[in-house]
Amino acid sequence: MTKTLIKGGTVVTAIDQMEADVLIDGGKVVALLGREHTVEADEVVDATGKLVIPGGIDVHTHMELPFGGTFAADTFETGTRAAAWGGTTTIIDFAVQTVGQSAMDGWEAWMEKARGNCAIDYGFHMITGDINDQTLKEMELLVREGVTSFKMFMAYPGVFYSDDGQIVRAMQKAAEDGATICMHAENGIAIDVFVEQALERGETDPMYHGIVRKSILEGEATHRAIKLAELTGAQLYIVHLSAQEALDEVIAARDAGLQVFAETCPQYLFLSLENLGNGFDGAKYVCSPPLRDRAAGHQDRLWRGLRTNDLQVVSTDHCPFCMGDHHTFGTQKQLGRGDFSKIPNGMPGVEPRMELLYSGGVEDGHISLNRFVEISSTTPAKMFGLYPKKGTIAVGSDADIVVFDPAATHVLSVDGHHMDVDYSAYEGWEMTGKVDTVLSKGKVIISDNAYHGSPGDGEYLARGLSQYTN
Ligand SMILES: [Zn+2]
Repeated sequence: MTKTLIKGGTVVTAIDQMEADVLIDGGKVVALLGREHTVEADEVVDATGKLVIPGGIDVHTHMELPFGGTFAADTFETGTRAAAWGGTTTIIDFAVQTVGQSAMDGWEAWMEKARGNCAIDYGFHMITGDINDQTLKEMELLVREGVTSFKMFMAYPGVFYSDDGQIVRAMQKAAEDGATICMHAENGIAIDVFVEQALERGETDPMYHGIVRKSILEGEATHRAIKLAELTGAQLYIVHLSAQEALDEVIAARDAGLQVFAETCPQYLFLSLENLGNGFDGAKYVCSPPLRDRAAGHQDRLWRGLRTNDLQVVSTDHCPFCMGDHHTFGTQKQLGRGDFSKIPNGMPGVEPRMELLYSGGVEDGHISLNRFVEISSTTPAKMFGLYPKKGTIAVGSDADIVVFDPAATHVLSVDGHHMDVDYSAYEGWEMTGKVDTVLSKGKVIISDNAYHGSPGDGEYLARGLSQYTN
């Protein structure tokens, strides 16, 4: 076993900041050492002048997701490698059960896609797209396999949608097993009426995607999900919260002592409805919920929510589709030319998440350095049953560690990013702070601007139940 020493850096966790060297053996952290030590190692990573932080954990990615007649462009191989470049060392992706299919079969199909292909460790949530008696039984089996969270959709009627009755049944089962319900909270039935009316008026540009999916409909669905969780006793985690109306509901629930949590994503913190303008170029920014109106104050409220712990996690909802039609998966965003409702929903984001949160969050004064680590790594690990194996730098934890250079500047661009998609949602953005070196289970997989890992380094993580409580 190789002993590795990360030397000279400032170790930052969700709680602490210390001048310490990190000793790694057998893929795990075995000691945090004060500077005056005589320990020697086979390999030394020089972290002088840099931050040493736990590897990022992105709990919301969609590699190879079938959606709207195409597939998300990143495979498990390209997507997890891009994640590593950006300082993320664990993802939780979403396996899919479609209508009429067994949930176990869906999970096994996604295990097959990921197996031997991932650069970093990975787990799965299960999208339960067809709640019936069989699925309810399978939820219990899945929990035993380490799939301890189930995602449901109040949006996308006819695709992933679950009605309130199905949601109640799944929540009852989740409450029984201690599992978490992840909810896409938008009122999809109401949204579809507005979509139809907009298209009848000839409003076909991407901008209308943002206009018809009104923030009040995210607030309404969030309220309903919370009430159903309250009735059934299920732990509820609202995914990709974008609207202040939804945040208000989460705050009220948390004030009432309910086990209700929520994540937001960089696109909602940094981008806005205006990005959807500029003709079909706006298709780059079509995701659901949509980017919100900056002037209406959503972004400020999300940052405040992150500071006050009303929002606990920042994930990406990484689900890239190409603008051009050269991709091996076939036509992607172009499917929606002339009809915004046919634009595949999703944006690339798994790679720049950590740097965006550091540059636009810590450097710009929205959140502290410790809070940055907490929302990008520690809480995600606790929320989804991976702590303390993942999510911190402590004796016994996996040595998933990022050496981060807080002073380095660089520019985000499609030229040079590693996601397999033909645009950057943050093209030309100047970042302060850069991922320098990345270790996954003690192995240096990124250093000196090169990738040193290989597909299959990443292993499946059978997760425990959520360890996060109010
Ligand atoms: Zn998603």
